[in-house]
Amino acid sequence: MMNNSWSGDRTGFPKAMRAKILRRDKTCRICGLRPATEADHIVSVAECRRLGIVYDTIDNGQGLCRECHWAKTRAEIQQGQARMRTPKRIPVHPSQAPRGGDPGQACDG
Ligand SMILES: [Zn+2]
Repeated sequence: MMNNSWSGDRTGFPKAMRAKILRRDKTCRICGLRPATEADHIVSVAECRRLGIVYDTIDNGQGLCRECHWAKTRAEIQQGQARMRTPKRIPVHPSQAPRGGDPGQACDG
C-alpha cells in the first residue's frame, strides 16, 4: 500500500524530483525556446491513476516553460470537460442502442 498522504487532487512532483527534472530539462520540451521553469507530468496524474501506473517518476516528468505548461493544463481540463458534457444528439443505430447495463463499465474488484 502506498502512503496516502496527498490531500486534494492537485498533485505536483515531490520537491527533490522536480528539481532533478528541471536540472535535466533546461529548456522547455514543447516550444524548445524558453527555459523550463515547471515540472510537468507527461502522462497526466488522472490518466496514470486510471491506468494504475506510478506518475511521480523522473521518466514521466518533463521541464516546461510556464506558458506551455499552462496551455497543456488548459487543454487537459477542456478535454475532461468535453468528455463530461455529453452531446444531446448522437446518431445511434437502433440496433446499437444501449439496453440495460453497459458492458463497457466493469468493476475492478
Ligand atoms: Zn514552452
